[in-house]
Amino acid sequence: MDTIGGFATLCRCGKSACATHITAPCDDGRQLLPADAEPIAYALDIALRLDEHAFDGVVAVDVDVRSRETSSLTLHAKELNFKKASFEGIGDATNIALSEETSTVTFTFDKPLPLGNGKLSITYTGELNNQMAGFYRSSYVDRDGNTKLMASTQFEAIDARRCLPCWDEPRRKATFECSLRVPGHMTALSNMPEKGVEEHADGSKTVSFDRTPRMSTYLLAFVVGEFDAVEATSKNGVQIRVFCPPGKPQLGRFALECAVAALDSYDETFQIHYPLPKADMVAIPEFAAGAMENWGLVTYREVDLLIDDRSASSRQLQRVAEVVIHELAHQWFGNLVTMEWWDDLWLNEGFATWMETGVCHKLHPDWNMWEQFITDMQGRALSLDALRSSHPIQVPIAKAEEVEQVFDAISYCKGGSVVRMVHAILGEAKFVEGLRNYMSNFSYGNATTDDLWGAWEDVSGKPIRKLMGQWTRQMGFPLLELKAAEPQPDGSIKLSLHQSWFLSDGSAPSSSQSWTIPLFVTASGGANGEEKMDEAPLMPAEADFELNVKGDGAWFKLNAGQHVPMRVVYPETMVPNLASAVRTKSICAADRQTPRAQTSPQSHHFCYVTSRTYATLCEILRSGDSTKVRGKCYTAFTQLLTQ
Ligand SMILES: [Zn+2]
Ligand SMILES: [Zn+2]
Repeated sequence: MDTIGGFATLCRCGKSACATHITAPCDDGRQLLPADAEPIAYALDIALRLDEHAFDGVVAVDVDVRSRETSSLTLHAKELNFKKASFEGIGDATNIALSEETSTVTFTFDKPLPLGNGKLSITYTGELNNQMAGFYRSSYVDRDGNTKLMASTQFEAIDARRCLPCWDEPRRKATFECSLRVPGHMTALSNMPEKGVEEHADGSKTVSFDRTPRMSTYLLAFVVGEFDAVEATSKNGVQIRVFCPPGKPQLGRFALECAVAALDSYDETFQIHYPLPKADMVAIPEFAAGAMENWGLVTYREVDLLIDDRSASSRQLQRVAEVVIHELAHQWFGNLVTMEWWDDLWLNEGFATWMETGVCHKLHPDWNMWEQFITDMQGRALSLDALRSSHPIQVPIAKAEEVEQVFDAISYCKGGSVVRMVHAILGEAKFVEGLRNYMSNFSYGNATTDDLWGAWEDVSGKPIRKLMGQWTRQMGFPLLELKAAEPQPDGSIKLSLHQSWFLSDGSAPSSSQSWTIPLFVTASGGANGEEKMDEAPLMPAEADFELNVKGDGAWFKLNAGQHVPMRVVYPETMVPNLASAVRTKSICAADRQTPRAQTSPQSHHFCYVTSRTYATLCEILRSGDSTKVRGKCYTAFTQLLTQ
């Protein structure tokens, strides 16, 4: 067994000292807890001491001891004080050792633990902190205008360990049966519905909750506060509630409508009904992220959930809809099927981002969600990913602490763009079929990006693993150049294409890298790249390629529908005709977004992409169909000329 800083180097196969992988661990040296025991079920009882900013915890974990010689167990724990730990049939731990560096606790017993099922019981206390991570406190205003304290949790990525000692890794799934002792007038919520309430003489009460399905620790959640709620029921009978500040239930109505529509839509898409009996959504007054997809108890920053739909702008409504729909996509993609390790988090977020756009578009076609996606998400991805300082979407993460650093706009925006691209390559039917297979094969378990590519490869027969790997494991993206278009004797036109790695500083790439590129082409008087996309030819990951298309030769639009996150450049002679196609709306709305997308201040490299001269750039930009577009162009030009 190889040990780095107290952690066993664990193989994907789950053995800490696997003979096959002992010299070269299969997981890039991930630092994981030892695999000598696996958690099966947690029973967790927490008594809140709100005024003292503290809580008392008792956790009993059913574990499966897998290693014969083990007389100690190491779990994650952070900022917890341990009073006692015991193992059923063995007795109390003789030593409890904390490591701040690895945020772990090791319980040592005086004899080896029996193999197979056993029970580890731990009594401890914790701090109800004010750091918006772990189990933390925030203040709220009650009905009478008094400022009071409430409590809620934020565990992703690695803060469940601040609430309970646990195997705080996404792959270590287990069930949770919890109870909370709280002040009698407060509402206590967790992932599952309330099972019972016991009132105590001191005015407090203990609320117990049904047992959860198998799930990852980072998705466990508690909220304790005073709320008013609005509620509805999904088509398949799931209770959906939005919890609002006291006296303001109307602020939850819009989010509730979005949630009902989203749940119905996902039930249909995934062909797996929402897996829990209820879906709660709560606004937390002090919240670090936008929202958190805790299973069955999604928490939000107030502005991302609560809105007065009579006075809000359509931009504000859109933001709430996007966030709600995004978090609910995670209830399946992320919660039911979870990434095996943090380096696949990009897929979770990329998928939810793509899904949020699609469902929002269905609910509100007037919001032009896909055009916004191309302009905002994909535009941002291309701006950042054209820099030398960019990085691949998929990078190995050895320590869970690193997840925050690598998980940035590149992973998020390019991740969403890459999911949109694979959807175009597969077509809706195969995309959904593969997705359903993946969801049903890995329900209540874990999967990797490769597992999802595999599911799509199986249903489509296309080399999805290899193809998509080039887009997720390499940084940057290609510049696709249309070199020439020559009429052929059979009436078709031969396009000569060239690809190179695009860097916005204009420098030559230090190494050659290339991509397999799906060629969606719209041609004047011929092919329409938006039809039969799943039959589009693939340009191999080589510099040059020739493609025959039908058309009258006036213009070609490569990357029709902007389905591939890349840039395209045309011969100067073709630009006037292309500009006129934009003006007359002969090409689709997504493609008419191109000039807009690329005149945003961050992405001025458009000038040497679609055309390499300012004059021809002006030609295309002038074809934009609104004064707003021309205004944007003017701003972008001013910036360019003053640089
Ligand atoms: Zn192995
Ligand atoms: Zn998300």
